[in-house]
Amino acid sequence: MNLKSLIRDIPDFPKPGILFRDITTLLRDPEGLRYTVDLFVQKIKDAGLTAEYIVGIESRGFIVGAPLAYQLGIGFIPVRKRGKLPAAVHSIEYALEYGTDCLEVHQDALHAGSRVLIIDDLLATGGTASATAKLVQKIGCKLEGFGFIIELHDLQGRKHLPDVPILTLVEY
Ligand code: IMP
Repeated sequence: MNLKSLIRDIPDFPKPGILFRDITTLLRDPEGLRYTVDLFVQKIKDAGLTAEYIVGIESRGFIVGAPLAYQLGIGFIPVRKRGKLPAAVHSIEYALEYGTDCLEVHQDALHAGSRVLIIDDLLATGGTASATAKLVQKIGCKLEGFGFIIELHDLQGRKHLPDVPILTLVEY
């Protein structure tokens, strides 16, 4: 299946000059959605990863991460923006182009030694995924790898990620 044909390009979103890769058109396609999850499962198995939890990054990481966890028979843990999670959290601040942002995970969701796979829809500069990796590593988790539907190759996000398997389905 040609996943790229189901991903839509939106010029000048969210700002002029940015070409946004929109996966909503992939998600609404029944075969595309199933293929995306199945291909991730296959790649995770081929790479020999034995994660106990999918850690999904808000918000499109939830959409792909949850069915993936279901299919693998493991748990799903959301990493959210500041102030969204109701119980006590671990937090990490990270730099944006202008200013900083913050990601959080429940303190009782993970513990030292938990084996996790971080999932998001897209790897651009790597800032978001790198901050998530630092957050779970601060807790003492074993980071098994990353999974992204899309990798924007020219932005070299991989360079900012730890040396673990990075599984991607489509590259631009
Ligand atoms: P990074 O931190 O620069 O790697 O950006 C990745 C984050 O921004 C992910 O959470 C993505 O969901 C989001 N993102 C950046 N560019 C796009 C895009 O073109 N389409 C969809 N999401 C994007």
